[in-house]
Amino acid sequence: MPNISQRNQSSVAGPYFVDQLVCNGCGICVLLAKENFRSDNDGLAFVAKQPRGSKQEACCAKALEQCPEFAIGKVD
Ligand code: SF4
Repeated sequence: MPNISQRNQSSVAGPYFVDQLVCNGCGICVLLAKENFRSDNDGLAFVAKQPRGSKQEACCAKALEQCPEFAIGKVD
C-alpha cells in the first residue's frame, strides 16, 4: 500500500502520488500515462501533471493498477 508520507516530492499536488520508497523505477507508469508520469533524476517516477479529462484519468488509473510494486496511490 503506497504511503503518502513517502510521496516523491517532485510530484505536483493532487490526488495521484508515487511512494518513492516503493517505486523501483521500472517506467511502466511513464509508458502507460505519458502525459502524467515522468522519471526523476534517480530514475524514480513522479506525477508531473495530475490527470485532466477522462482519457488521462483512465491512463493514470491503469498505471495505478499495473504498477508492479503498488507504488502509485490516489487520495480523494
Ligand atoms: S510503475 Fe510503479 S514501480 Fe514502475 S516506475 Fe511507475 S511507480 Fe515506479
